Amino acid sequence: MVHIVGAGPGDPELITVKGVKYLKEADVVIYAGSLVNPALLEYCKEGAAIHNSAHMTLDEVVETIEKAEAEGKMTVRLHTGDPAIYGAIQEQMDAFSKRGIEYDVTPGVSSFLATAAALRQEYTLPGISQTVIITRNEGRTPVPDREKLRSLASHQATMCIFLSITMLDKVVQELLAGGYTEDTPIAIVQKASWPEQKIVRGTLQTICEDIKDQNIDRTAMIVVGHCLGAEYELSRLYASEFTHMFRKASK
Ligand code: SAH
Repeated sequence: MVHIVGAGPGDPELITVKGVKYLKEADVVIYAGSLVNPALLEYCKEGAAIHNSAHMTLDEVVETIEKAEAEGKMTVRLHTGDPAIYGAIQEQMDAFSKRGIEYDVTPGVSSFLATAAALRQEYTLPGISQTVIITRNEGRTPVPDREKLRSLASHQATMCIFLSITMLDKVVQELLAGGYTEDTPIAIVQKASWPEQKIVRGTLQTICEDIKDQNIDRTAMIVVGHCLGAEYELSRLYASEFTHMFRKASK
């Protein structure tokens, strides 16, 4: 059996209880070494075989798991954040199905949510935006034309942009071309939930300057939208005149 597990954004306490349970039981662990906090490997039992997938091809990952299966061992495939977001797990799951290897998926706290926590920010503010767009700028992986940053920006929703910090200039250009104004707030969070977490806030006009000399590398999230520092309306959920399933209106 293979358990695909979301490791969370970095803080070893932000993995699920179920994820830790599987890590403790695993005979073989294959972790995404470029992003998963190695501190999580301390949950593994003594003698577990631990592989860093940063040095492996898809075939090597699948072969390692196939061998473990043949020996009746249990494998954890540990992915950063939540495995469903830019986790490249579909091709692995399809390879498992093809070989008759049983697997399941345990979700994790995605980095865009750890970023909201770091910023102490709600993404869905009434009267500002009720939509969060998870996207990326085009890199080696192409992005379909209809999903280009420029066209997504036209919605003026809250946007969480993954995998794009090294192309921040291009991101800003596209967001402006899509209709965001230069004074739109933007925040960069590097290594959200890690001890070395770093936050830089600015506007679309200032951010490229603001992050200069800040040593911001690949592990960073870009959040843009009017929710950052906005004047918003109060939520209906806690409004005193609003009745819902669990509470009657008091006025
Ligand atoms: N599955 C992961 C994303 C993997 S793609 C998830 O759900 O979070 C890798 C990208 O995620 C990085 O380029 C960066 O944009 C973002 N990322 C991962 N961990 C992060 C963290 N701790 N803080 C900020 N961004 C992070």
